[in-house]
Amino acid sequence: MQQAAFFKQDDLISVITTQPIERALDYRAPEGGCFDGAYVEVPLGPRKVLGVVWGAGQGGYDAAKIRPVLRVLDVAPMTPEMKLFLQRAADYTVTPFSAMLRLATRAPGLSDPPSMRKIYYPGNKTAIKITKARERVLDIFETYGGAGFTLKELAGLAGVSTSVIKGMLPSGAVVEKVAPRDRPFERLNPDKTGKTLTKAQSAAVDHLNALITQDAYSTALLRGVTGSGKTEVYLEAVAQTLWQGQQALVLLPEIALTGEFLQRVESRFGVRPAEWHSGVTMTERRRIWKMVGQGQAELVVGARSALFLPFRSLGLIVVDEEHDSSYKQQDGVRYHARDMAVLRASIAGAKVVLASATPSLESWTNAGAGKYHRIDLTDRFGPSVLPTIETIDMRSENLPSNRWISDTLAAQVQMRLERSEQVLLFLNRRGYAPITLCRACGMQIGCTHCDARMVEHRFLNRLVCHQCGDSQAKPTSCPSCHAEDKLAAVGPGVERLAEETAELFPQARIVTLSSDMFGTARALKEQIKEIAEGAADIIIGTQLVAKGHNFPKLTLVGVIDADLGLHGSDLRAAERTFQLMRQVAGRAGRADQPGVALLQTHQPEHPVMTSILTGNEEEFWDAEAQARQEAAAPPFGRMVGIVISASNPEAAFDFGTRLAQNAHPLLAIGAQVFGPASAPIARIRGRHRVRLLIKCDKTAPVQAAIRQWLQAFAPKGDLRLAVDIDPQSFL
Ligand code: ADP
Ligand code: ZN
Repeated sequence: MQQAAFFKQDDLISVITTQPIERALDYRAPEGGCFDGAYVEVPLGPRKVLGVVWGAGQGGYDAAKIRPVLRVLDVAPMTPEMKLFLQRAADYTVTPFSAMLRLATRAPGLSDPPSMRKIYYPGNKTAIKITKARERVLDIFETYGGAGFTLKELAGLAGVSTSVIKGMLPSGAVVEKVAPRDRPFERLNPDKTGKTLTKAQSAAVDHLNALITQDAYSTALLRGVTGSGKTEVYLEAVAQTLWQGQQALVLLPEIALTGEFLQRVESRFGVRPAEWHSGVTMTERRRIWKMVGQGQAELVVGARSALFLPFRSLGLIVVDEEHDSSYKQQDGVRYHARDMAVLRASIAGAKVVLASATPSLESWTNAGAGKYHRIDLTDRFGPSVLPTIETIDMRSENLPSNRWISDTLAAQVQMRLERSEQVLLFLNRRGYAPITLCRACGMQIGCTHCDARMVEHRFLNRLVCHQCGDSQAKPTSCPSCHAEDKLAAVGPGVERLAEETAELFPQARIVTLSSDMFGTARALKEQIKEIAEGAADIIIGTQLVAKGHNFPKLTLVGVIDADLGLHGSDLRAAERTFQLMRQVAGRAGRADQPGVALLQTHQPEHPVMTSILTGNEEEFWDAEAQARQEAAAPPFGRMVGIVISASNPEAAFDFGTRLAQNAHPLLAIGAQVFGPASAPIARIRGRHRVRLLIKCDKTAPVQAAIRQWLQAFAPKGDLRLAVDIDPQSFL
């Protein structure tokens, strides 16, 4: 690696801070000097702020007024590569650079001085008299697999006072050690032998390794049905990267980050990787950030924001379940982790592996055009075969109202229960019922802050708004006409489905998996593990269960409403339904039991349904690609969403109208501007929302045009404006 420029004491240097000032400021290098890219603390007015040295100073200021850098942080300087990545990412997403820099420095306590401190580890737990509080401490050690904590952290996690922990020291149940604040991660062992690969897997690994051993950037799309062994394949690509002395990053949708996955990494490489997601403790985040920067964390497994970690020598990024819409951040900096992974790798000369059973149309098209390499795994691993997928035509089922499980489906469930196999009933709707209706006046209870209906959650015994999270007790009389006992639940949610299931199958052990039912990601992961081991007969679940979990005893998947995703006018409705249905169906029959997926639908002849059934993916994607091409829609054309919000609806509309009427820079590049129009969800948290939509050619320089356009229109007062490049949601 090229040595970064060094600045001697008092040299004039440029610093970009994490504060919303969109230009570099001049400072003087501190005593001892500093490298270009160093993370520094600088004075800004009366405050101390975090910044990064960005080359030589620009000069032009009163030399006497230029202040020196206060301190150089004890972390590796930002690489030129990372600088370029952040700049390009900011340009692409039309984000202020300071916001990008904040994203890249999101490790608490980064500027704390390095020091030794006391860490508390598990000891001999049999040595101590157990109390409720002590048990909680031991539980935390258990869940975090032997990790150490600071006193405060451990007390916080266990919900006990620090004196409880100190009281456990004399017996040796808890051990105190003095350790450096941030320890390097244990080295992974790529030479440890992994599973014996099948012929198809070996061929895929050879293909990938041929790419990885090259110097230049490349991206490969690794397609393979669920259970085809993609994970094993890309773990070998990780091994190859480690052999080359480079670092690897595996991105997973947050919810797929299970203990099961980490165990697979451990059994391949001997140790657990660094784990980066919302459930990781603050101390651990800081440690990962620093060690990644020093090259002392070789493999990070993380959620999308791990992409902004300061890798020293990044060789490989794997994006697993690359089609997953949760890779798009929908607020703050609106970036798509898959696209940013490709950008980062292309700058770093690294490789990207996009793995999916049902790739996005974007990646499918890029592979088709030769921009990505394409590697296919067609068969499932071992004896397990793909599930048979069939529809149940709900038009001929004559279900009474308030019933959602057809007789046909019920009979199939019964059969599985008799054979002690597991069943998954899938409904992508949280709560008990989506609508609470007054039978007297017809009124539907809505949220006071949002343009959304309140969803009944019987589990919580409340009505909840899925937009803003506000909740209220379920009233006994209609808030509008005051009629007593006329409020009725309309439509199904998973909780209601669970009720119906319990009535139909009173002997079965039923669990409901829905994201609102778990306090913590860890509790959910725990439950998923128990289910996989056979703790339930029927699993009722939302989208949550579609992602990357192995339930070996599961042989039947019943989709309650396969048409659900097809309603609405979303550009990706067909794509998402296809992906979700194929993926949910893929949960069935993973071990040696063949699986069946049954889709309840009112439109079995819909083209999306027929392609799900035939499994003719190529045909589906071809048709979908053609339709998008004709509409000049993504990925063939580009779209940009502009979302304006204000507490006053007219202010939002007026601002949108002025923007639309003055869109010359956009028209100049041949873009079309639509709107302003009220957003489909016209109000969230009391703020009125208006949207504009920009459509243009894929190659048009739209970001530059948008910057120029918006320069003249700073939103004033409580107006807010957000730019969403390549929007995934149009709500
Ligand atoms: P995918 O990522 O494509 O869904 P996985 O890599 O999770 O597939 O593989 C499915 C299952 O098959 C897993 O339980 C995995 O451990 C097992 N498996 C895959 N390949 C092998 C192999 N070569 N030897 C033994 N087990 C394997
Ligand atoms: Zn609301």
